[in-house]
Amino acid sequence: MIKFFYHKYQLVPKFALSAVAKDLSRDGALFKIQWSGDLIGYGDLFPWPEFGDDPLERQLEQLKKGRISRLMEQTIWLAKKDAQFRKDKVSGLVNTATIKNHLVIPDFTKLSDVILQDYKKQGFTTLKLKVGRDIDQECKWIEKIVRKHPYFTFRLDFNAVPDSNPFQRMLGRLSPSVKNRIEYVEDPFPYDYKNWMEVSKLMPLALDFEFDKVDWDEIKGSPPFKVLIIKPARNDVQRHLEIAQKYKLRFVVTSSMDHPVGMAHAMLVAGEVKKLYPAKLLECGGLSQHVYWPNEFTKEMVIKGPCLVQIKGHGIGFDELFKKTEWVAL
Ligand code: MG
Repeated sequence: MIKFFYHKYQLVPKFALSAVAKDLSRDGALFKIQWSGDLIGYGDLFPWPEFGDDPLERQLEQLKKGRISRLMEQTIWLAKKDAQFRKDKVSGLVNTATIKNHLVIPDFTKLSDVILQDYKKQGFTTLKLKVGRDIDQECKWIEKIVRKHPYFTFRLDFNAVPDSNPFQRMLGRLSPSVKNRIEYVEDPFPYDYKNWMEVSKLMPLALDFEFDKVDWDEIKGSPPFKVLIIKPARNDVQRHLEIAQKYKLRFVVTSSMDHPVGMAHAMLVAGEVKKLYPAKLLECGGLSQHVYWPNEFTKEMVIKGPCLVQIKGHGIGFDELFKKTEWVAL
């Protein structure tokens, strides 16, 4: 018998989150899940209706009826992982301090030179930019940053904006030296094997949200992307790892820009993946706490520059806060 308890929360972004998501506060829920034998674990459910998820209330209604969404399936899987560490009274975040994360910048037009200098001092070397809103302005900014801060590498995420135009325009605008600083472009436009194949000759691509659209049988030889984004909060991690192995892809484990509980889970999985595939795991994207105004969970995360050093407690940590949280039985 499995029992669910939840606690609703809101995250308030400091700025617009992507070309698709805006800057309104976002609803999510923490979960305390109890299995038989007093196995208890914690998880996060943070839907992105912009990307087709059912909003939180609907997710909860469905769960009450015993219908488990794909997101909730991951929440349960991660909570179970957490529960096992808690049972053994050990932290699950043992090697996260050795995993470097990129700096996600949803709205970089708000970022000053001084702040960027500071990020560099903290040890960040990769900037992940959400692009596709204003190509001219974005290109100007990237060109400027490459000139002034040549140590940064870029990951650009178009979140599959509806046509290929913004991506093509950006490619046309950026100088060759700037293009060399781009590690990859993520979801440049909606997935289409032939079109992605064509542009992959110009720029390395990464596959994230467009994963579900890929017809794997259609791929002859190498796929049009070199990197696979793995979000433990959304994806079947094992299946993604198998695909990455089969197609010789490298991978990046990222948070779903969710609650610190979600970030902790992403980092825990990144730690496990690193142990298994140290050479295939690229710099990750598990830390996105700076995107939202902090809450009491954020304050429990011991972060040193691009690395999560520790969160006190067992499993994903936060033991004291989970004790204080008001849980509602489902
Ligand atoms: Mg993405």
